[in-house]
Amino acid sequence: SENGGTFDLVILGAGSGGYAAAIRASELGMKVALIEKNKLGGTCLHVGCIPTKALLHSAEVADAARDSETFGVKASFDGIDMAGVNAYKDKVVSRMFRGLTGLIKSHGITVVEGEGRLTGRDEVTVGDTVYKGTNILLASGSEPKTLGLDIDGEKVITSEQALTMERVPKSVAVLGGGVIGVEFASVYRSYGSEVTIIEALPHLLPLEDESTSKQLERAFRKRGIKYELETPFESVKTTDSGVSVTLQGGKTLEAEVLLVAIGRAPVSEGLGYEDNGIRMERGFVEVDENLHTGVGNIYAVGDLIPTLQLAHAGFAEGIYVAEQLAGLNPPAIDYDGVPRITYSEPEVASVGLTSAKAKERGYEIVELDYNLGGNGKSQILQTQGSVKVIAQKDGPVLGVHMIGSRVGELTAEGQLIYNWEALPSEVAQLVHPHPTQSEALGEAHLALAGKPLHVH
Ligand code: FAD
Repeated sequence: SENGGTFDLVILGAGSGGYAAAIRASELGMKVALIEKNKLGGTCLHVGCIPTKALLHSAEVADAARDSETFGVKASFDGIDMAGVNAYKDKVVSRMFRGLTGLIKSHGITVVEGEGRLTGRDEVTVGDTVYKGTNILLASGSEPKTLGLDIDGEKVITSEQALTMERVPKSVAVLGGGVIGVEFASVYRSYGSEVTIIEALPHLLPLEDESTSKQLERAFRKRGIKYELETPFESVKTTDSGVSVTLQGGKTLEAEVLLVAIGRAPVSEGLGYEDNGIRMERGFVEVDENLHTGVGNIYAVGDLIPTLQLAHAGFAEGIYVAEQLAGLNPPAIDYDGVPRITYSEPEVASVGLTSAKAKERGYEIVELDYNLGGNGKSQILQTQGSVKVIAQKDGPVLGVHMIGSRVGELTAEGQLIYNWEALPSEVAQLVHPHPTQSEALGEAHLALAGKPLHVH
């Protein structure tokens, strides 16, 4: 074997978690090797956050064309040119990719191309070259779960193939009503497909506050998106024209395409993790509060560990590990305070606890659901939805849950409110700019503080 050198930190995987750790560690003076078998940036940049949000933006433009009459504009929706959509999406991704590549280079990080394996407590091997690390960070990420279904890439696809569609299917069945399923259902519907979501649990976005999920279901129904709730799927058959999906109870659904969006599984098999004594649970690497695996100086971040599978959680975890290694003693991550956004139309966004979770933790709560019907900007945008604030009785805000076009951006304020443990009366003191959707947050807190303004 060849000697690839000795580093302060060797990172396996250059997705959101791995590259954030690499950048922060090198800023803090560490010598870093970043090993990547595919492309710098990982899932989020290449087949996750960024390309899906580009598809969603094209969907928004399509909706605007379709609804132009509402705003007195003469335009028409004449269909989707997938080549054009893909060119736009690819332009965004490649620009971000060039930027990230330059950023990593400018930090003097050693980038190693190839598939790495943990071959000891302080080394990762790529081919026959060994990279020694005083510290090791596992950041190999995740991939779509398939439930053993035959993903042929044409009739049965995952989010990965959904990102390179060459034409708009007439009909799509979406298996899974979580974030990814809901976002793609929204995209396909805007592009003109007939869409049906199949979800085993009682609601779409089952991790969100139930009241938000119900509003999303109503909004989707209005958009003509169908869904089967509490209906586990049983089997799939491909047919000449597409797929035939059988649901529990015997009902069948025909569609041109089945998108399998039932979650993501960690990439951890055959990488030497278990061989080196790392504890695993359902493929996830187990870590303590410090994101330490309990073995040597080996840490793990991102979708590989059983925390939130979100890019910004990965960034935070990567930075957290790098700062610990540099002896900065950073505070542990409060996962309840990490915002969660589903970028469908309408958007769903939240931070903090749901009503159910707050009660489960024994809080006596008060809550206020402010309807966007009273919010000027939402009327201008012709969007419906609400901002729901949950607070501890005579105490701080415990959760903010929003639904409506563009409300994702409002989590910026929601997270300050939650993480700084603000009292509703304190937020009520803040003067919100008129007319913005952020006023809805202000109004909800005014009402909670006992001085409602635009509330019936
Ligand atoms: P990854 O990004 O998966 O990176 C892991 C990297 O490790 C990959 O580049 C892989 O090639 C590499 N690797 C694996 N094994 C090896 C090996 N043996 N040797 C070398 N390299 C290896 N999150 C959000 O916050 N917002 C969103 O809007 C959002 N949208 C999403 C949409 C979709 C369709 C999907 C699939 C995900 C989305 N996510 C979103 C989630 C987000 O992409 C992930 O949480 C994030 O990418 C996790 O980062 P990571 O570093 O843990 O793993």
